[in-house]
Amino acid sequence: MPGAMDTPVQFLKGVGPRRGELYHKLGIDTIRQLLWHFPRSYVSFGDCIEIAALEGDQICSIRAVVVRKSGEQRIRKGLSVFKVTAADDTGEITLVFYNTKYTVDALAVGEEYFFYGRIGGSAFRREMNTPQVFSLGEAEKGTLSPVYPLTAGLTSRMIAANASQALELAAGELNDFLPGEIRLKYQLCELEFALCQIHRPKDMPSAEIAKRRLIFDEFLILALALSKIRGKHSVEAGYQMKCIDSAPFYQSLPFFPTGAQKRAVDQACRDMGRNIPMNRLVQGDVGSGKTLVAAACCWTVWKNGYQSAMMAPTEILAMQHLNTLRRQLEPFGMRVEALTASMPAAAKRNVRQRLAAGEIDLLVGTHAILSDGVAFQSLALVVTDEQHRFGVAQRVALAQKGNQPHVLVMSATPIPRTLALMVYGDLDLSVIDELPPGRQPVLTYRIGSDKRERAYGFIRKHLDEGLQGYVVCPLIEQGEADMGLKPAAQYARELAEGPFAGYRVGLLHGRMKQADKDKVMEDFKNGELQLLVSTTVIEVGVDVPNAVIMMVENAERFGMSQLHQLRGRVGRGSQQSFCILLSDARNPESRQRLGMMCKTNNGFEIAEFDLKLRGPGDFLGYRQHGLPQLAIADLAKDVGLLENAQQAARDILASDPEMKEHQKLREQVERIMRNVGEQIN
Ligand code: ADP
Ligand code: MG
Repeated sequence: MPGAMDTPVQFLKGVGPRRGELYHKLGIDTIRQLLWHFPRSYVSFGDCIEIAALEGDQICSIRAVVVRKSGEQRIRKGLSVFKVTAADDTGEITLVFYNTKYTVDALAVGEEYFFYGRIGGSAFRREMNTPQVFSLGEAEKGTLSPVYPLTAGLTSRMIAANASQALELAAGELNDFLPGEIRLKYQLCELEFALCQIHRPKDMPSAEIAKRRLIFDEFLILALALSKIRGKHSVEAGYQMKCIDSAPFYQSLPFFPTGAQKRAVDQACRDMGRNIPMNRLVQGDVGSGKTLVAAACCWTVWKNGYQSAMMAPTEILAMQHLNTLRRQLEPFGMRVEALTASMPAAAKRNVRQRLAAGEIDLLVGTHAILSDGVAFQSLALVVTDEQHRFGVAQRVALAQKGNQPHVLVMSATPIPRTLALMVYGDLDLSVIDELPPGRQPVLTYRIGSDKRERAYGFIRKHLDEGLQGYVVCPLIEQGEADMGLKPAAQYARELAEGPFAGYRVGLLHGRMKQADKDKVMEDFKNGELQLLVSTTVIEVGVDVPNAVIMMVENAERFGMSQLHQLRGRVGRGSQQSFCILLSDARNPESRQRLGMMCKTNNGFEIAEFDLKLRGPGDFLGYRQHGLPQLAIADLAKDVGLLENAQQAARDILASDPEMKEHQKLREQVERIMRNVGEQIN
């Protein structure tokens, strides 16, 4: 018999089919899911702010009378705006509601309410955006009202009432899945207390105590699930490497490796000598020379008589690696081949056969390496480049290819430490914190489109000196062109006929055929093209040291880490390089982000700043890694708890690898694994 926790929410008073459907939209079908739908924050109506005293960007509550309501304004299909004017003794404010006819209809002119939300507008005309509305009755003075993530038609008040009922219903079943000693060690409250206080806090400190426990749970369960999925407990490495002096390899290079590169190679080689599989992340900013680290490791593996594989996220990158690695490794007699989706079937078959027969020492490719039918004779090392493009799922699939190969992950986006911990668990980290000698930071400027002509002139000046440049446009949907965005193809034509008439202009975008892309990249590399107009396909890894200037159109449309990646395409030689961010965006967040890009070349700082600014919910990398949405934990703020939870996960698995003595916790982990695992199988 299913327990109360698995009862459908419709069982609750006041939840009929209609509200049930709304709950379903929020991902809530059962009592359990309702109880784990946590408030985002709390409003206390004891400390309302007077309208005259409101400041921009502040989140607060006001107490005001509705003066008038505007009709519905349709901005475009699927987006309507409602404006409501409200006043207190000190002034008036406009309340702006998007797509919430339901809420606005329920407001009565002349009635007084509490409104809670973020203040925007200008100093002269304050606005509150999509406020939450509370009647005077529901907001008893002094109590904390929870503010929940909502969907149209549901209010925080309704959810709070349903959650209260759910708590009573589930009271007998809230037995704690955390072992007592872990609660003690990390000073966490009991589950029942946590759930009661998160939904109906006695006061702010109690809510905080509850939150701490629930964040810990979220991290712990995820950490356990991820280590289960990685399955890296008590696994033996398939191949143990003998230590081999890398000097002959280094001596064959046209330059000296940096200290940081050598350190990363040494660390990786030491890992590969142990009897457990290496799981190392090499984190180095764009241009720090990670490819060389990979090459040295593959060389060592070859010296030991085994095979390696290197995987890149795009064909362009895979081909570039193929060229570089061939140049560096074939002189030693290593056999380096590629396998990509666009190769003719016969060529693919040939590569597969030779791979299985051990006649290829290093295979370079894209995801095609993961496809069935690719079997290695003795795959001992897997390198994945530009890791942030690969999810947990792909890495697991790759690891399963060989006989527990060593894994070296190379990340150019220096993902924030919290995220790295989450995705990789207890992996080892090598940081390449030193750029090859002679590099100068890329000078970055933000300009409005009024300075466009000057920017073109500046680019021409560099092309005239025999240097090269990029112009990058955001990926463009049909129909957006009228919003002032430039589809790459049309834009390339305009440039070639206008400001860059007489220059050799090329075009690169994702929808081109592979062969055409290769041709364009080839022409750009050997200097036949001077200016490359491109979408973000050049974002990762492309290496043309003679390209020294980049202009990014509609720069506000890109994420910061993405801009940093793009910018990394220049500044790869000894010339001073430039990045021009073109943007007319006025909103403060865009300006802040672009301002930060101009201020620093440090990818790590940029990633941290981005994480803070955007919050974890829509933080780019997180979902890309195939991880489930976090309900309450904040990757930017909760680092300490994450570390604790990870330690606890290690302790639990060390003493009880199958979690036989942690049955209740195990159920929680399995629930999460079903979600994450779907993407793996
Ligand atoms: P990334 O870390 O972004 O992958 P790459 O491996 O593509 O960087 O290297 C960037 C450029 O720097 C390449 O042209 C490479 O040949 C060059 N390079 C790498 N290491 C050194 C070094 N130690 N000294 C000089 N140039 C180097
Ligand atoms: Mg690279």
